[in-house]
Amino acid sequence: MSLIIIGTVAFDAIETPFGKTDKIVGGAATYASLAASYFYDKVKIVAVVGDDFHKEDIDTFNAHGIDTEGLQIKEGEKSFFWSGKYHNDMNSRDTLVTELNVLADFDPIIPENYQDCEYLMLGNLTPIIQRTVIERLKNRPKLIVLDTMNFWMDIMMDDLLETIKLVDVLTINDEEARQLSGEYSLVKAAEKILTMGPKYLIIKKGEHGALLFHEDKIFSAPALPLAEVFDPTGAGDTFAGGFIGYLAKVGTINFNNMKNAIIYGSALASFCVEKFGTEKILNLTDEEVADRIQEFVKLSSFTIDA
Ligand code: AMP
Repeated sequence: MSLIIIGTVAFDAIETPFGKTDKIVGGAATYASLAASYFYDKVKIVAVVGDDFHKEDIDTFNAHGIDTEGLQIKEGEKSFFWSGKYHNDMNSRDTLVTELNVLADFDPIIPENYQDCEYLMLGNLTPIIQRTVIERLKNRPKLIVLDTMNFWMDIMMDDLLETIKLVDVLTINDEEARQLSGEYSLVKAAEKILTMGPKYLIIKKGEHGALLFHEDKIFSAPALPLAEVFDPTGAGDTFAGGFIGYLAKVGTINFNNMKNAIIYGSALASFCVEKFGTEKILNLTDEEVADRIQEFVKLSSFTIDA
């Protein structure tokens, strides 16, 4: 049994009030698979890069036990490139450049040994490709989680809606929830989105945590207040990877495990933002992760004698 993660494997150039990076390795599948690998040992990626991607970068995935057989390398082509600049509040950003490059005609190939997929993370990428991966799996996975962004809502809303119909969990941020539903209130937005296909909706609110909606239930998870946030890039993907990695580990899908999974995802995301790019989530120890989970527990537990 395994967890397949699809999404971009990319080069990013990031500018925040604390500094600037040249092209560094990023991409939704990169962050999500690294995060998931802390909880589950059968993580497999499906993605595409150009020949500008280095062997050492692929070795980094393998060092985390991530199977890269489904990572295609296109000779003579360039990897997906994204560049963004954060505002002083570090919550909002402008996308400066999105170069699809190899992603433009990506045909996701599912290796035979990936057909044991039980958990599928459709990371941020063209909605048509996300759907193709579902169609190419011989058996429907036990859980399909989809993450997307405003970019795809702007240019491919109809395709996105078709894909969303097929998934169990949708993770998006608050602005994207408003764009997708046409509702300003997140409660009303969630009500509408839960009629579009997914049974669970997670709305990520950056430094304000995340909300989980399922039927008439709502769970609110905090974000850890951090003294220093260097670079929020990839926090959403790291969250999603930690979330599904934890669920794959526990193996039972229910509201309570989803709540815990959100805390695990949030914990990993809180590490991600402390350094540029993937730097911080490359070398975490189990103890660091466990301590961070305890910080979340302390942060939001209280007793009321009522
Ligand atoms: P996040 O900060 O969680 O939204 O994710 C940032 C990552 O998403 C970066 O590493 C980018 O390479 C990647 N990314 C940016 N735009 C897109 C897009 N339109 N489709 C897929 N991945 C993207």
